Amino acid sequence: MPEAAYDRLVHVLGQITDLDRTLGLIEWDQQTMMPPRGAEARAEQFATLAGLIHERNTSPEIGQMLDELRPFEESHPRESVEASLVRVTRREYEKLRRVPVELQTELSRASGLAFPAWVAAKKASDFALFAPHLERMLELKREYVACFDEFECAYDALLDDFEPGMKTSEVAAVFARLRDALTPLVARIRERQDRVDGSAFVGDFPAERQRALLLEFLPSLGYDADSMRLDVAPHPFASGLGITDVRLTTRFDERNLSSAFYGTIHEQGHGLYEAGFSSDLDRTPLARAASLALHESQSRLWENIVGRSRPFWTFATPLLRKHFPEQFSDVSEEALFRAANQMKPSLIRVEADEATYSLHIILRFELEQDLINGNLAVNDLLQAWNAKMRDYLGVEVPNDAQGVLQDIHWADGYLGYFPTYALGSVISAQIWERVKADLPNVEDSFAKGEFVELREWLREHLHRHGRKFTAKETVELVAGQSLDPEPFIAYITGKIDELYGR
Ligand code: ZN
Repeated sequence: MPEAAYDRLVHVLGQITDLDRTLGLIEWDQQTMMPPRGAEARAEQFATLAGLIHERNTSPEIGQMLDELRPFEESHPRESVEASLVRVTRREYEKLRRVPVELQTELSRASGLAFPAWVAAKKASDFALFAPHLERMLELKREYVACFDEFECAYDALLDDFEPGMKTSEVAAVFARLRDALTPLVARIRERQDRVDGSAFVGDFPAERQRALLLEFLPSLGYDADSMRLDVAPHPFASGLGITDVRLTTRFDERNLSSAFYGTIHEQGHGLYEAGFSSDLDRTPLARAASLALHESQSRLWENIVGRSRPFWTFATPLLRKHFPEQFSDVSEEALFRAANQMKPSLIRVEADEATYSLHIILRFELEQDLINGNLAVNDLLQAWNAKMRDYLGVEVPNDAQGVLQDIHWADGYLGYFPTYALGSVISAQIWERVKADLPNVEDSFAKGEFVELREWLREHLHRHGRKFTAKETVELVAGQSLDPEPFIAYITGKIDELYGR
């Protein structure tokens, strides 16, 4: 009875989803609420839950159901929930089963050790303290890559964990075009720093008042207090614990308003994706974003394309004046728009503007490939990093902490993750072209504080599908074309021409 097997599969996947979301909940709690001494007990809870989830996901029972369900899958249309659920589960199952439990355990152990070493190395600004851990991580990642034989190159296997189905060669082509287009633009910005003044957002901004400002306008962007929360975390993120339970986090810099302002719009963009999955996908592995790049396309669309636009500032200027009259009563809408779009080559990826950001990513993408392929020794990484920072951004790296040690990803074992950030920007611009073609007056409504048309368009064309389609199919579905850097290049060139001159 195939229907009975399908029901069993849905039941088991529902339980795994519950475990997964419980893990997400205790991760959220760790970042927002947990007292410092809870860390030890929490580490045990993480290990137990992660172990249970892995065990369930790779159980022979699932393998048997998947075998039984082959004819069932074929008898349903490809885009149906039934066929999609079986297909996505099979892909995941086959991938997970290929990695021996010992290697999985060794990888978690290595990142457990690498994390405190990275913290100490960053504090001492000494890459040498972290280098042996990166070496070990690369060794294990090469073993991981060797578990698969279907990939064209080692990096494909790493990338696939974050951007399923994406090939290194496709990313390399997009990034080569971006790098060639952005490098001269960034050089132009560097020479004309006097043209845009970003100081409007610098001042005295108590966290409580920033929060009040955010909570006043976030609902118009789709924040729903009955199914979302906004809390403080040191490294902001958004987490979907269910379609009607989405946790957003932010951090307040009391000396600079733009950090939490744009950081929260960004996370809210992620949150809308998590809240937008069709309800018939809920409590299944299909209630997830199609890929990290697609997830990031949503945060960047709201943060940059919407949130840094002129119409948005027509809407936001009175709000800033209302909440911080002493700071903004004499600042014009034009000055705020320009300040929000200040661009400047800098050292730190997470603080980078829309124009320079992708160059930080391209640098990491190139170095990661050289490391995993053995073309670059860990001992030579520092020098290679600093040279690329000079070439791409014209920036001299003064110390390791602000250079090669700035990101947590390698300590966490997240090799192959970085490209998804810049691909998110690329996809966001493709989606935006499509939105403007469908809704020619959409920007006029932003000036009035109305974003519902855009939200509904995104839900209809992207969010509701969850993971029913592959990442590539989803991009084609929402953008009407395959991955293409040209819309982003046109968008960013237009902005730079306007603000910094041709
Ligand atoms: Zn993001």
